[in-house]
Amino acid sequence: KGIVAIVGRPNTGKSSLFNRIIREKKSIVEDKNGVTRDRIYGNAEWLTRQFIVIDTGGITLQDEPFAKEIKAQAEIAMQEADEIIFLLDYKQGITPDDEAVARLLYKSDKPVVLAVNKYDRQDPNASPYEYMSLGFGEPVMISSTHGIGVGDLLDKVIHEMPPIEEDADENNTRVAIIGKPNVGKSSLVNSILGEDRMIVSDIAGTTRDSVDTKIKRDGKDYTLIDTAGLRKKGKIYENVEKYSYLRTVSAVNSADVVVLVLDMTKKITDQDTNIGGIAFEERKPIIIVGNKWDLVPDKEKAIGEKTEEIRAYFKYLQYAQILFTSAHDKTRVYKLFDDIDNIKAALNRKIKTSVLNEVLNRAQLLNPAPKHNGGRLKIYYASQVQAYLPTFVFFVNNPDYVHFSYKRYLENQIRQQFGFEGVPMNLIFRERK
Ligand code: GDP
Repeated sequence: KGIVAIVGRPNTGKSSLFNRIIREKKSIVEDKNGVTRDRIYGNAEWLTRQFIVIDTGGITLQDEPFAKEIKAQAEIAMQEADEIIFLLDYKQGITPDDEAVARLLYKSDKPVVLAVNKYDRQDPNASPYEYMSLGFGEPVMISSTHGIGVGDLLDKVIHEMPPIEEDADENNTRVAIIGKPNVGKSSLVNSILGEDRMIVSDIAGTTRDSVDTKIKRDGKDYTLIDTAGLRKKGKIYENVEKYSYLRTVSAVNSADVVVLVLDMTKKITDQDTNIGGIAFEERKPIIIVGNKWDLVPDKEKAIGEKTEEIRAYFKYLQYAQILFTSAHDKTRVYKLFDDIDNIKAALNRKIKTSVLNEVLNRAQLLNPAPKHNGGRLKIYYASQVQAYLPTFVFFVNNPDYVHFSYKRYLENQIRQQFGFEGVPMNLIFRERK
């Protein structure tokens, strides 16, 4: 997916444009399951293209002067985005702050689309031409609150968007290693690379400043996504939490499998669960890695306790696999790859309808559906209609009789019987006519 960043001085209406763009698809993903935060990115779609929009106005620096904040926002946009919407305010015309933003954007090699917001069609003096002096061509005149011109803007955005680089290699597994600072992500990556000594290449991102690392293990290819983001520390925006958040979003977005790293010597925090929430929202397969296991005392006892703790904190990630590792002495790093391979295999798995129904019949015998909403669920038959996300349609007497805990039971049965550990799935119940 491409990334489009909205940049401009404060009060030009970046957030309302952002909202307007993601609402075109009517899909503002609401925070759920305790995943709370300000939203600065959203998934959007226009014509045939899907892309991610970033509202850079949401990236704020604490206790820093205004100018520095705008500069950081523009820099992040230039670094992370494939394309930039430079937003102005029609009511204010071109201000010195706008000119300052323009000067920053001159340094960018990304396409910049100029848009003038709060445009009033009735104004007899309205003219787009004065804005051309900024050097970004003719602007698109819009009103985000009234929805005027936003379609034209998106047409232009799509037109300028660089073509998608398809990672066409089916045999390559893309892995995003995510987690809050200091949990051991870099150490884990280093232990993987050190162990193999088979780094094929560092692929410099052609559009973004991210570097993916290709490795080969047991004859199989993997790409570790954005290893540069793990190595590079200490730059001004590295300290902006929302920035690293964004970086995580784009890594997760392009991954086949997500590895969420936790520090097992510490309590799980909101920051951990928020980061895990990204994998949930993007509906990605996930392995939760409890790292620094070498430092955990009484390991035998800790396995049960820590597993329970992780399950309790990551309720929405019930499908996640859990693995305890030590990046330090490389404990179970090999197992991480086994799990990744299993997940990758599961993504192409299509269960035969006859076998599926056998398993479901047995599951119902073992644990019959409870009465719910005045009736008892009866499953006539089910079939898998899609490989990834694994989607199963159940034909039943009445979908209202499905109790959520019974749905979870069925899901877990399928997951265990057919090896979908770590993979989210979709169960749909339909009334049989
Ligand atoms: P990142 O910010 O998530 O990339 O974390 P780092 O990889 O930089 O690790 C943070 C600190 O934890 C460093 O001092 C590491 O040496 C240490 N560390 C990472 N993994 C382990 C581990 O498995 N065991 C131990 N004992 N220390 C670890």
